[in-house]
Amino acid sequence: MKKVDKENNLKTKCPVCQCELENIDKECPCCGFKELHKEFNSSQEKKKWEEKVVFPLKVLWQSSQKIYEQVVRRYEKAKQDFLKALNSIGKLTPQERQRLLEEFYGAAKVKLVFDFFNNYFNK
Ligand SMILES: [Zn+2]
Repeated sequence: MKKVDKENNLKTKCPVCQCELENIDKECPCCGFKELHKEFNSSQEKKKWEEKVVFPLKVLWQSSQKIYEQVVRRYEKAKQDFLKALNSIGKLTPQERQRLLEEFYGAAKVKLVFDFFNNYFNK
């Protein structure tokens, strides 16, 4: 019982990404930070380490998260737009669809795209 309590107390957060860590983790599973169980001789040494090692990585991690979120948002928006477009095209008659595609792709490429959409919508 006492052992479990002790283990719970040893749960820490990754200094870089603030992910919760099990004591056994050698490397943060979220950001890959490896110096999780570093020991220091003084609080000054610890402070230096935080400034030189942790802080730059923290900044990098936060900006990479922002970029990742932007990519996900852009991707999700494109997906929604694409599905909406497909849905609209699906409501057209084959003649209307051909006209639309001619406007976009020019007559030369239309057959290829037209066949693709007709196959896609089974019409
Ligand atoms: Zn981390």
